[in-house]
Amino acid sequence: MRRARLLIDTGALRHNLGVARAAAGRRSIFAAVKADGYGHGLLTAARAFSKAQTDGLAVATPGEGIALREAGLSERILVLQGALTAEELEAAAERSLELVFHDMAQLDLLERHAASLPPERLRAWIKVDTGMHREGLAPEQVPSVRERLSASPAVGGTIGLMTHFARADEPDGSATEQQIQTFAAVAGDWSGETSMCNSAALLGTSAAGGDWVRPGIMLYGGNPFIFGEAAHHPLQAAMTLKTVLVAVRQVQRGASVGYGGRFVAPETMPVGLASVGYGDGYPRHAPDGTPILVNGQRSQVIGRVSMDLVTVDLRGIHAQVGDEVECWGSGLPIDQVAQAAGTISYELMCQVSGQLRAEATILD
Ligand SMILES: *Cc1c(COP(=O)(O)O)cnc(C)c1O
Repeated sequence: MRRARLLIDTGALRHNLGVARAAAGRRSIFAAVKADGYGHGLLTAARAFSKAQTDGLAVATPGEGIALREAGLSERILVLQGALTAEELEAAAERSLELVFHDMAQLDLLERHAASLPPERLRAWIKVDTGMHREGLAPEQVPSVRERLSASPAVGGTIGLMTHFARADEPDGSATEQQIQTFAAVAGDWSGETSMCNSAALLGTSAAGGDWVRPGIMLYGGNPFIFGEAAHHPLQAAMTLKTVLVAVRQVQRGASVGYGGRFVAPETMPVGLASVGYGDGYPRHAPDGTPILVNGQRSQVIGRVSMDLVTVDLRGIHAQVGDEVECWGSGLPIDQVAQAAGTISYELMCQVSGQLRAEATILD
C-alpha cells in the first residue's frame, strides 16, 4: 500500500457524458475508453458510461473490446486500430466488435479469413485519411475498399466511414475545415454511418457533423483545447490524485533542496514532503512552481520530483504532518499541472501507476 491514493468519481464520468450528449445533439456517442479508460480503469469507465446510457464504446485494440464483452457490456464497441491477425479477426467477429479498416493489409487479412468467420457478425468502418497522415486510407481507395467490404460474407450491416482530426484543439480552425471538406467529398451520399469528432471537435467545431462522435478526454474532465479553457463547458474532474505530508521542516536560506540542488531557498523557509513521486505517475519533469494543493491551499512544487517524494513550498501555508495533499483533481485542474509540466492531461492520466489504479477508490 502506498500513501498516494487515486480517487475515481464515476458521478463525474456520467456528468461529463451528459455534457457530451448535449453537445452531440442528435449524433450518437462512442465513449473512448482506450488506455485503460484514460487511466481511470477500463471497466470503471465503461460501466459508468454504460450506466449513463452511452450508445457505444471505443477502444484501441480487439483485446480491449473482448475484455468489455467478457465483463458483460453489450453496447456497440468500435475498435479504432482494427484487427492485425486472424486470431483478432475471429475474436472480434465472435464478440460482434466493429472494426476500423485503415490499411489495405487489414482488408487482405479479412478476405483471406472470411470463410472461417461467422457470417455477417463484423461491422466495418473505413477510416479515411483527410489530412492527419498518421493512418487511414487515401480518399481514392475508399470506393473499392467499400465494395470489397460489402462483398465479404463476414461483414454485416452498412459500412461506416470515419476520419480523425489532427488539429481540432488549436485556435486556428483552417486545417480542420480542410479535413471536413475532404471528408464531405469522400462521403458524398454515403449510405452508411459516418463519424468525425473527438472531444475538441465536438466542443469546438460546429461545422463537423457525422452520425457518431468519439469523445475521450472531455469525459474524464480534461480540457481538449491547447489554448484557453473549456470553461464554458461544465466538465467535472473524474480523477483525483491525493497523498499526505510526511514531514515539515525549515530549510536554511541558501540551502538547495533535493536531487541536483535545483531549488535554492531564497530565505529560511518551511518545506513539506509529500508522499508521491514519479513511481506513482507524478510527472518527473514538473518544474519549480508546478501547482499542488496542501490542505486545499495552493502551493507549488520546489526541487526535483523523486520516485516517491515531492518537496513543496509551505511559505504562507498552514500545514502539518499527516495533512492532505492534492496533486490534481476536483480541487486543482489537471490541465494546470500538465501545462506546468510541459505535457497534456491525457498523459498525466495514463501515467498513473498500475498499483494506484488497481487500488483506486471508486466514488459513486
Ligand atoms: C482517442 C481517439 C478519440 C478520442 O479523442 P479525445 O481527444 O480524447 O477526445 C477519438 N477518435 C480516435 C480515432 C481516437 O484515437
